[in-house]
Amino acid sequence: MRKNKRKQSITTQYIRLIGIFAFAFIIGLVVLLGYQKYIHNQYAETNKHLQEKEAAAHQLERTFNQIFFEMRGYLAFDNITMRNKALQLEDDTTELILLLKKAAVTEEDLLFISEVSDFQSYYFEVFIPELLTAYETEANSDKSIAMNIAQQNGTQRVNELQSSMSSYTNAVDSHILENFKKYSLKQTISQWFFVVFLFFMLGMLATFVRFMFKRLGTPLSELAAAAEEISLGRDIVTFPQNDIREDELGTLSRAFEKMIRSIQENEQNLVAQNEELIAQQDELHVQKDELEFALNKIQVNETNLKRRNDLIKSLSTSLNKTDVLQNIVENFSRLLNADHGLIATTDLNIEYAAFGLSDEEIKQYIYHQYSGIIQRLYKTKQAFTIQRKCTPEEKGYHVSELYCYDFYIPVLSADNELVALMTFTRFANTFTKQEIEEYTAISKQISLSLERIRLFEESEFNRLLTQDMINTLHEGVQLVDDKGTILQENTIIQKLFIVNPITMVNESFETWSTKILPSIEDGAALMCFLKTIISDGTPQQSTHTYHITSPVKRVMQVYYEELYRGNKKYGTLFVHRDITKEYEVDQMKSEFVSTVSHELRTPLSSVLGFTELMLNKDLKPERQEKYLLTIYQEAKRLTALINDFLDVQRMESGKQTYEKKFENLLPIIHQVIDMYNENEPDHIFQIQKKTANTTVLGDNDKLIQVFNNLINNAVKYSPAGGEIKVVLYEKEHSLCIDIIDQGLGIPEEALPNLFTKFYRVDNSDRRKIGGTGLGLSIVHEIMKAHEGTVSVTSILRKGSRFTLTFPLVESKATEEKVRNDFQSFSLDDSVHVIVIEDDKNLASLLTTELEDNGFHVLQYMQGDAGMEAIKKYKPDTIVLDIMLDESGINGWEILEQVKHDSDLQDIPIIISSALEEKEKGFKLGASEYLIKPYPPHKLSSTILQTLLIKEKSGQILVPAKTES
Ligand code: ADP
Repeated sequence: MRKNKRKQSITTQYIRLIGIFAFAFIIGLVVLLGYQKYIHNQYAETNKHLQEKEAAAHQLERTFNQIFFEMRGYLAFDNITMRNKALQLEDDTTELILLLKKAAVTEEDLLFISEVSDFQSYYFEVFIPELLTAYETEANSDKSIAMNIAQQNGTQRVNELQSSMSSYTNAVDSHILENFKKYSLKQTISQWFFVVFLFFMLGMLATFVRFMFKRLGTPLSELAAAAEEISLGRDIVTFPQNDIREDELGTLSRAFEKMIRSIQENEQNLVAQNEELIAQQDELHVQKDELEFALNKIQVNETNLKRRNDLIKSLSTSLNKTDVLQNIVENFSRLLNADHGLIATTDLNIEYAAFGLSDEEIKQYIYHQYSGIIQRLYKTKQAFTIQRKCTPEEKGYHVSELYCYDFYIPVLSADNELVALMTFTRFANTFTKQEIEEYTAISKQISLSLERIRLFEESEFNRLLTQDMINTLHEGVQLVDDKGTILQENTIIQKLFIVNPITMVNESFETWSTKILPSIEDGAALMCFLKTIISDGTPQQSTHTYHITSPVKRVMQVYYEELYRGNKKYGTLFVHRDITKEYEVDQMKSEFVSTVSHELRTPLSSVLGFTELMLNKDLKPERQEKYLLTIYQEAKRLTALINDFLDVQRMESGKQTYEKKFENLLPIIHQVIDMYNENEPDHIFQIQKKTANTTVLGDNDKLIQVFNNLINNAVKYSPAGGEIKVVLYEKEHSLCIDIIDQGLGIPEEALPNLFTKFYRVDNSDRRKIGGTGLGLSIVHEIMKAHEGTVSVTSILRKGSRFTLTFPLVESKATEEKVRNDFQSFSLDDSVHVIVIEDDKNLASLLTTELEDNGFHVLQYMQGDAGMEAIKKYKPDTIVLDIMLDESGINGWEILEQVKHDSDLQDIPIIISSALEEKEKGFKLGASEYLIKPYPPHKLSSTILQTLLIKEKSGQILVPAKTES
């Protein structure tokens, strides 16, 4: 039981003590406050009583004084009201006396009350009646008797009463004062008690706190000291108050001690373990060093493997020989830690790659590839190393003797042929036997790779050869597999359908057909044809003809060949042939046949009909004449028709000759119009001349033919008549002539074909109008030969405008002068032309043509001889072929030399070549460029034109030589 009490927790103890203290404090406080309340109540009660008494006494005093005053007034002034008021106040006095009686406590009070009661009885029962009787019964003269009575008997008693009343009120006042003093004293005493109580309680509190600090603080600071000792690493032998105290601090202290003891114990264990760990750590260090060493070795091996891997990879990934050789030499040098390295092939086009070597060093190596030390590789086909002193460049800043090691490795093919050589150099480190064996083995891989590249190059060469071959074909070629995917194609097929051609190889049928479809008219039929063949079907026809609408209009025919390997079909070859020309010829043929059948038959049938009539019938002479005239006109029409046919034929084949002279067009136009003026009354002809320069260089007959054809058409296709206007004007250095009619006009879609042979507008309103469709094509050809053009604009049912343009030739004076000059050239042989042409026949043809036109010609077949002659004779013009005998200089070189020679550069050069390189020619300074074949007369006219232009620009006035 006792032990339990001792074991009470320190907190419970302190709470209990605080409770007792608080209880005592509250009890003390309640007692003191109660006492205070008590004395206060006591005082208040007494005071109230005394106050009431005092008030009643004072009131009584005042009432008696009032009565006395009233009575005296009555007596003095005989005022009945005052007597009555005095008598009325008697009741008040009775009441006040009763009040006093109730409040009476002391003997003094009782005495005073009896005194006052006596006086009241006396005054109102004895004195007043007496007085009143005396005063009211007596005559006025006797009122003094009454006054005397009042004075003798009353005054004394009244004075006595007043004095006793005043002494009584004074006594009551002093009782009140005394009561207050008593109360003040008690208050002071109680306050003193309160102060003493407070001090007592404070003292108690201070003692308690001090006790508490002593009980808690001391053991805590002892514990803190002990903890500090432990933290400083000192041993604690004893713990204070451990045994004595049973409270929390005791428990805490004991637990702390226990903990410290166990920590100390653990520390010892830990120290032991630590020592063991340090030993293990040392061991681990040793192992780590070993592992690091092994790891380094592995890393070196890994790097080597990686490099080897890179090398092998580079051998297999690229098929570019230069890249592969460069990769080999770099990777090998890295693998070997070599400072320089070089690999070179042994074939005729030696290819090589180097690492760390200058161009000069590489050149030297390649130069001595078949001699010196490298020769050893060729002989032995074995790798070897050489130790040598380093060259001063290799030594860098080292002055002592240094050695370098060269490692020569042969790269051998499968049949032991030396295909490449490798040499690597390492400073100061010799190559081990193991390295030599290892890298000799790797060199086998290199030979395989080089062999692979050789095979690839060979097959690539063959592929390109095949591609080039199929590219040179005029047909578009597509090789597709059994699903229609393109395996191979040529460039022609790409250009056929698309403006900016791109390859369609490897594209599926759907992809490439979608690309080309927009350019094809009725593409669905073509695709159906192709699809049938690809999917092994048999098309209705072995070929298919289709039209391409863009980028260039063409008519194409596709045929196919199936390709087999053994019995298995692996693809189909589509060949797209451009048959535009054939198609056009075909078209033309049928047009020609229909024209001929119509145009020839009609006049022929009338010739035959009329001749028959004339033969079988007897006709009158006038009839005969009429029929003969018709026969003559129809025969003329036939002749004109046949002439047209022949003209076209001649012009197209370049066989048409033109006799060009300076011709004024005005008389020609007049001459043609005159032919129609008379016979066509419905048509009004008009010529407008808006330029003075109406001269052209041309063939008179052909010019008449041009105007005749155009004016004839204007008349023919204006069946209702109307105005036909010919306007001559200048525009952009050309002489232009418009032939304008108000006829049927030409539909827009017909305009592009108008100048094609046999083309006629097929239209109901002109079907009756005869024609061959040759007139405009003849005009076109003639204008071409005159370096001019013909064009047309037309509005249907409104009329047409045909426009001719000729190169402008200035005024008549110039014309005549030129004509004279030309004649004098011809007469005097004054224009010297050197012709350089290696084709014997062509050279003689051109010479004849030029000589026929009065030029003086020197002809050379070789470039060098020609150049010599140019320098020597300084001709007026040179006619130059480009492709000349290979042994000498070619045309381009002659052109360049002439144009760079200040003495010769003004000589006009006319290139006459089959090469279509006009742009280049003009760039180098040629005056004209004629592409073979061209009609020979074109050369003479071109020379003349050129000289004319030159003369006009003031560069040359021809007869310098004539004069000399
Ligand atoms: P044709 O012998 O048919 O007249 P052309 O070559 O002279 O042959 O003319 C070709 C076609 O051009 C004609 O069939 C005609 O329909 C049209 N044509 C030519 N000139 C005119 C014109 N002035 N007015 C209307 N149509 C014309």
